Amino acid sequence: MEGQRNTRQKQLLLNILREADRPMSINELHTKLSEVLPKIAKSTIYRNIDSLLAQNLIDKYRLNDNEVYYKIKADSHEHKHYLICDNCKKTFDLPSCPIRDLENAMKEKGFIIKDHQIQINGLCKSCAGK
Ligand SMILES: [Zn+2]
Ligand SMILES: [Zn+2]
Repeated sequence: MEGQRNTRQKQLLLNILREADRPMSINELHTKLSEVLPKIAKSTIYRNIDSLLAQNLIDKYRLNDNEVYYKIKADSHEHKHYLICDNCKKTFDLPSCPIRDLENAMKEKGFIIKDHQIQINGLCKSCAGK
């Protein structure tokens, strides 16, 4: 069953991201998922990831090496931004969303904003100290 297989793959991806507790790249997800599903193709993972993004279950980030990383959301209504350490890939919560006011101002001008992303990267305290 195509549908059931997809559901299982998505569930496994979510489990991996939940356990990782940090953003993971497609390559990392592929390595991890291959331990359970040895024949899984990277294109299949991309497809599942796209569907998880559409379901609002994960977030997408682009880090300094331009590789795309994915992180699980605590819940689908979560609105949070993170700082990401380029070195250890740990994430740190931004205390609040700094562009809500900007969004509201744009809305008053009739612009319909569907989503926004904030990308902040650098070095965390412990990596900077090395
Ligand atoms: Zn770090
Ligand atoms: Zn925001």
